[in-house]
Amino acid sequence: MDKNIPRVNSQKILIVDDEPAFQKMMESQLKRKNFDVIPCLKSEEAIHAIEVNLPQLVLMDIMMPNVDGLTLIRQIRQVNLKSYLPIIVVTARNEPKDLVEALEAGADDYISKPFEFTELYARIMNMLRLKSLQDSILSKTNQLNEANLQINHLNHVLTETNKELKKKVYDLHNIFEISFKVMGHTEEDKLINTALLNALGIFTSKSVMLLQVDPDDHDTFVIKHSRGFLGDKIADFSIRRDDRLIRYLEFIKKPFQVKDVVYEFENMMPVLQELEIKALAPLFQEEEIIGILCLGASVSNQEYPPDVLEMLGILTNMLSVALHNSQNFEQIKALSYTDEMTGLHNYRFFTMRLREEIARAKRNESSLSLLILDVDYFKNYNDALGHPAGDEVLRQLSTLLKSSVRDNDIVARYGGEEFAVILPATELEGAAKLAERIRVKVEKHRFPSEEIQPGGVLTISIGIAVYPDNATDMEDAIVAADRALYFAKASGRNRVVEFNHINHPTNNPNPIT
Ligand code: GH3
Ligand code: MG
Ligand code: MG
Repeated sequence: MDKNIPRVNSQKILIVDDEPAFQKMMESQLKRKNFDVIPCLKSEEAIHAIEVNLPQLVLMDIMMPNVDGLTLIRQIRQVNLKSYLPIIVVTARNEPKDLVEALEAGADDYISKPFEFTELYARIMNMLRLKSLQDSILSKTNQLNEANLQINHLNHVLTETNKELKKKVYDLHNIFEISFKVMGHTEEDKLINTALLNALGIFTSKSVMLLQVDPDDHDTFVIKHSRGFLGDKIADFSIRRDDRLIRYLEFIKKPFQVKDVVYEFENMMPVLQELEIKALAPLFQEEEIIGILCLGASVSNQEYPPDVLEMLGILTNMLSVALHNSQNFEQIKALSYTDEMTGLHNYRFFTMRLREEIARAKRNESSLSLLILDVDYFKNYNDALGHPAGDEVLRQLSTLLKSSVRDNDIVARYGGEEFAVILPATELEGAAKLAERIRVKVEKHRFPSEEIQPGGVLTISIGIAVYPDNATDMEDAIVAADRALYFAKASGRNRVVEFNHINHPTNNPNPIT
């Protein structure tokens, strides 16, 4: 039966025994069982034979010259082998003590001479079965270890990714909070300051600044707001629109770190280095750069991580939108306070400012004068020349009024053909002089076809009221100036009348209702 089994995967057995006869006998029997037999007559050569042949099992005598069996067992156990090497001890002695010693030294089984080969064979097969079991456990253990290593590695990667994600979530949360704060402002200065202050916080930077288009020179970016830079160091800092740096920003359309682009714009490098500007981010509005955010060095003086650019991008985009909104808001506000036809402030603005200015005069214990003006016989002009001609008169009158007052005086179109002028910090005397000057200017001004007016010229009448002399609040001031105007009309038109004046009984030609 054994002869028919092909000698494939035959297992090697090393026989260590100093008796050639025993060797021979074992060899022939084991070969018949398809084992490869490696004979070793000298125990001192056994270790070498093991290392070279890598047997699956060792069958060895315990009584041998030179290296004795127990010593050899211990030596074998010291050899670093990939898998377990079972040892069966063959002994002529039957002393339990020797056998115990052999098992303790590392032998796995024993058989005493004389023995039946079938018994040895059974023990060998048993050992090899155990070994194969052990080998497969070992290989499984190795696989598990390998998998464990991979899991540990993945775990490490996951932990790191998690840390990064947490930071990102934190940063985004910050940006989100900042956007609320920034967007909460409609005033440009406030929103920029808020954005810069918060930028210092999120990037832990020493300094930050925003360059914006110079209102007097559209081709130059100048510093409008900065934090943390020394004033005299940045005093002269500006960038021309045609500078390579701006061209570069227009091209890449996103923030960059200065250290990454040393050769792109050599001319600006010394300035950027001197000011310790580490990163720049463009603010775009409809394809055009409207500003550049410059980030100074970090508080720790370390380089910024690459993801600083992503955050800068979000911040500057948000700032662009906020600035755009603020400009829209300012425009809408201006429109809602402007009289479209004349370009003057409207009634709403007038009452708001008059209330404010009276409050200020109250705080400063100063005076304020109010003029209300009305075109004389304007109905006549309109009826004769048509409404568009009347409108033109109102526009010319507006220009004339604006050019007659100081910058902080407020000229408004009060109603149809009535105007009002608020003169902060002005007493009656000054107000009366100005009013008279205006009256004369209008009288002298050549309005189109004014000869159709009564008297051949277009004129106005003016009423004056003064805080706190004639009124203590906005409503009363308007009523007082209106009554003075009425008095001017009643007493002949083309004149200036002070409210003080009409309250003097001798100067009151008409009853005022
Ligand atoms: P008085 O000297 O008493 O002020 O006489 P008046 O004709 O100016 O006064 P009245 O209040 O009777 O008429 C005001 C006229 O002003 C009526 C209207 O035709 C004209 N007016 C009011 N607003 C406008 C405007 O926006 N455009 C034009 N063209 N005319 C206006
Ligand atoms: Mg009128
Ligand atoms: Mg009138």
